[in-house]
Amino acid sequence: MAASLGARVILRIEDHDRGRSRPEYEKRILEDLKWLGFPLDPESLTSLESGPSPFRQQDSEAHYQGVLDALADTGLVYGCTCSRAMIAEEVGDGIVSGQELRYPGTCRDRGIPLGSGVGIRVRLRDEVVTFKDRFLGDRSQRPARQCGDLLIRDRNGNWTYQFCVTVDDLRHGVTLVVRGDDLVSSTGRQILLARLLGRESPPTFLHHPLVYNREGVKLSKRDRSVTLRELREKGMSAPEVIRLARAGGRWREV
Ligand SMILES: [Zn+2]
Repeated sequence: MAASLGARVILRIEDHDRGRSRPEYEKRILEDLKWLGFPLDPESLTSLESGPSPFRQQDSEAHYQGVLDALADTGLVYGCTCSRAMIAEEVGDGIVSGQELRYPGTCRDRGIPLGSGVGIRVRLRDEVVTFKDRFLGDRSQRPARQCGDLLIRDRNGNWTYQFCVTVDDLRHGVTLVVRGDDLVSSTGRQILLARLLGRESPPTFLHHPLVYNREGVKLSKRDRSVTLRELREKGMSAPEVIRLARAGGRWREV
């Protein structure tokens, strides 16, 4: 798709969760993508390989802080001391199993100063967001009903996935986001946040199906699912791995 649009494919390391990120994971990703032969944009690749980089979220603290400061100037940002358990208790019986936990706005008007140990949220207007997904077609979402005011930094000081990717898509000039359909519910809120950050037109989104195991569970290391590395060590070539993924990932039958 990128080639047909004359576009670049940038590589971004989304290691905003410090507790779960390791330098060796990044090294592996780079090796695997190179081995697969993905035509990655040399600028992002060189930047990542040469040290601190704007394409690595852990190196972007100053940038995120600057964006937060600008957002705070709009008066839409507030401090929140709620834990997940507190939110769950407050929302109570309204939550159906598997449904997303919607923040009910508990701290909205409490005037909690932003500081250590305090989460940061941004007020989202209650509106319906519509977008045309390149794979799923027309979609509409109402973020205020799904997640409530968006958490942009958690109480431990970690910037959230929603905030980082929206900020990064804007600064890296990303116009097409291709990702798994497990993330489709995040799209409406990211479009709203992008608008608050001054982005006139949001990127185009394409959410593709994921490969599931026989029990219908997304493949992950936790399930001891096969890794790219294992396929490679079994002697599969990069084109074979890509063909397998396209065929629906029935690796057990190979
Ligand atoms: Zn709160």
